[in-house]
Amino acid sequence: MSDGAVSRREALATGAVLLGGAAAQRTPVYVPPPPGKKPGWALVGLGKLTIEELLPAFARCEKSRVAALVSGVPEKAKALAARYGVPEKHIYDYEAFDRVKDNPDVDVVYVVLPNSLHAEYTVRAAKAGKHVFCEKPMAPTTKECREMIAACRAANVRLMIAYRLHHEPHHLRATDLARGKELGVQLVIADLTQQVPPGTWRTDRKMGGGGPVPDIGIYCLNAARYLTGEEPAAVRATTFTPKDDLRFGDVEQRCLFTLSFPSGAQANCSCDYGLDDVSQFTMIGPDGSARMDNAFRYRGLKMTVTQRGVQRVTELAQIDQFAAEIDLFSQCILENKPHKTPGEHGLQDVTDIEAIYEAARSGRPVKLNS
Ligand code: NDP
Repeated sequence: MSDGAVSRREALATGAVLLGGAAAQRTPVYVPPPPGKKPGWALVGLGKLTIEELLPAFARCEKSRVAALVSGVPEKAKALAARYGVPEKHIYDYEAFDRVKDNPDVDVVYVVLPNSLHAEYTVRAAKAGKHVFCEKPMAPTTKECREMIAACRAANVRLMIAYRLHHEPHHLRATDLARGKELGVQLVIADLTQQVPPGTWRTDRKMGGGGPVPDIGIYCLNAARYLTGEEPAAVRATTFTPKDDLRFGDVEQRCLFTLSFPSGAQANCSCDYGLDDVSQFTMIGPDGSARMDNAFRYRGLKMTVTQRGVQRVTELAQIDQFAAEIDLFSQCILENKPHKTPGEHGLQDVTDIEAIYEAARSGRPVKLNS
């Protein structure tokens, strides 16, 4: 299953049991795993995000622990395993990865690889009988997203896409405001720009699944979806690629896209790989507006709400966004709970991204979700 109720196999994998014979099979009794059971996670790909954010986040997790590491660089994996208390026998390289199947200490595989590898490792993890937590964007193509969902369903394991802002207090408050009567948002303006270094998978169209759109534009797109609570009905887009910057031989530097929603709400979004860091959104309704600075960053989010000319800063906790989403998935597994970002949610973003690129290529609006 990609989400939803726990199955017999899933329950057993987490230490929970389903009781009863034939009658109970129709309405299984769910007995939670022993108190204190923390699902073990295998991190696949020891790059910047894993080293700088995820491994430290696990130290702040209450319901999750690092159980294994998967890497193509053994010395790095050994050094990190020693630092984070992972047994050396729980280090795998990419060829040996499928052996996690035989490691009962691993309950969840966290795919933190370049985007073009998300589908392969999700499918392999599912075949190994492990739940999958996969970084955004889910995959470069909708075809791969569907294969990932099908593989997890066939293996009866859960699949969650790592949208950390769905659990972040400022974004949750913004969503309430946007959808409620207080603001009744009709226009979202979202921008995420940053400089990318040359020669990484991010400027390789095949490995990234595009340029800045799937990597950073996805934050603007996804925010527009959860702020409005709607799926886009149409998209328009343009891209810009400079001739004199060697980073942009394969991918665009910039994409501007406009999403139109069925209610009439619209979102105007920009993402750029060659400009200084800006990370913000503004949402505007008939009687008020809200602006979020550092909106898509890991820390330092700040929301200012303006109503009837009065401006106030919303004071909310700054949480460890990674620890929160990791623990949430562990909890969903342990307690048989659904979550907000299953494979289908990731697939919708990738569907929209394909439409954004088609609109940019054709110069025409592309209809969606009709
Ligand atoms: P990095 O390039 O820093 O790390 C990727 C790692 O993947 C490498 O270090 C390497 O690990 C492994 N890898 C395996 N095969 C390849 C290959 N052919 N080329 C390059 N690397 C390979 O990327 P990030 O850590 O920044 O991003 C990883 C994923 O996380 C991406 O999907 C990205 O979109 C997502 N991400 C999400 C963020 C969020 O806020 N949710 C923020 C940043 C990234 P090893 O050396 O161990 O083999």
